[in-house]
Amino acid sequence: MIDFDKMIDNHIAREFRAKTVGRYYPSEIGGCIRKVWYGYKHPLQVKPDLAKIFRLGDIMHDFVVDVLKSEKNTNVELLKSEFPFKLEGDGFLISGRVDDLIIVNESGKSWIVEVKSTKSVDYIKEPDPKYVTQLQLYLHATGIHNGMILYVDKTNLKSKIFVENYDPAKAADALERFSQLHQLLTQNLLPVAEAKKKDSTAWLCNYCEYSDKCGKNEE
Ligand code: SF4
Repeated sequence: MIDFDKMIDNHIAREFRAKTVGRYYPSEIGGCIRKVWYGYKHPLQVKPDLAKIFRLGDIMHDFVVDVLKSEKNTNVELLKSEFPFKLEGDGFLISGRVDDLIIVNESGKSWIVEVKSTKSVDYIKEPDPKYVTQLQLYLHATGIHNGMILYVDKTNLKSKIFVENYDPAKAADALERFSQLHQLLTQNLLPVAEAKKKDSTAWLCNYCEYSDKCGKNEE
């Protein structure tokens, strides 16, 4: 017999590349800053289970693009998807890919759409703050100030939209976090254990690959 699980692992496995200090990604800055720091100082190969979750996210985004492009949906036009953007900081570069840019025909307004897949949209009452941070950076970098976070349920394709328009203060906070991260990395200073400090984020530590190092304040 064939081992299809193994075949999937082989198919989606990516070459391991350590991240470079000075080159940062919008998707990471809204999370625990210490964890991001460890990701640069002690890079780990993405585990197969996590790689599958990432791939599933890509598959869901491809589906969303099909829906946005569908001739049966005349209210929306997809202008671009997966398009790159760059932002220069003081001694560093932030780069990434924006999920989708659409125009809603009725209003003529352009919108940046950030797509997230989830296990159940019913439980999502507000967007994850790290996705808001990511979207604010895109809105800042592109100059398009209408944004939405579109959650799609992996189990039944139900969806939920949260509108998140440009907020210069939130974008400035996100840029400041990158600046702090860059300084802490270049000066080899361990950041605070950010996720542990708040009840609302402490649960993240249960899924953190660096919890042992973090518990010992290892550099
Ligand atoms: S264990 Fe928690 S506080 Fe420590 S790095 Fe991981 S997420 Fe951050």
